Amino acid sequence: MDSERIYYRGSCLCKAVCFELLAEPVTASHCYCSMCQKQHGAAFASYARVRQEEFRYTRGQNAVKRFASSGAVERCFCSECGSNLTWGYTEGEWSEWLAVALGCFDTPYTAAITREIHLDDMAPWWEQLAKARQT
Ligand SMILES: [Zn+2]
Ligand SMILES: [Zn+2]
Repeated sequence: MDSERIYYRGSCLCKAVCFELLAEPVTASHCYCSMCQKQHGAAFASYARVRQEEFRYTRGQNAVKRFASSGAVERCFCSECGSNLTWGYTEGEWSEWLAVALGCFDTPYTAAITREIHLDDMAPWWEQLAKARQT
């Protein structure tokens, strides 16, 4: 790579871990699955997807802990403060991609959320608000 552009910078809550994105994400999504709810302690998780090589840690990589949540899915978080950082497949056709938690971006992400997934798993205490907003 001749000229390298940093598209986004991000960090965890305690700032022990910092990262950079070297490309514009191809998709961004809100995921309502039960695992994302548990991991984030929230109604849904928001992630932007880039290729593995377009993501890099610039600080604190040794503080990053990995958790195999299901099959070949690995979720990474800061072992100091618990911030959720990324998830991705360790093998298979999607293993070259990485989903990065939008909530950890320090550079504002203003591009569109391209999809919402696992809507069937939506928490009832979020669904009532989501429904109210549609009327
Ligand atoms: Zn942290
Ligand atoms: Zn999910």
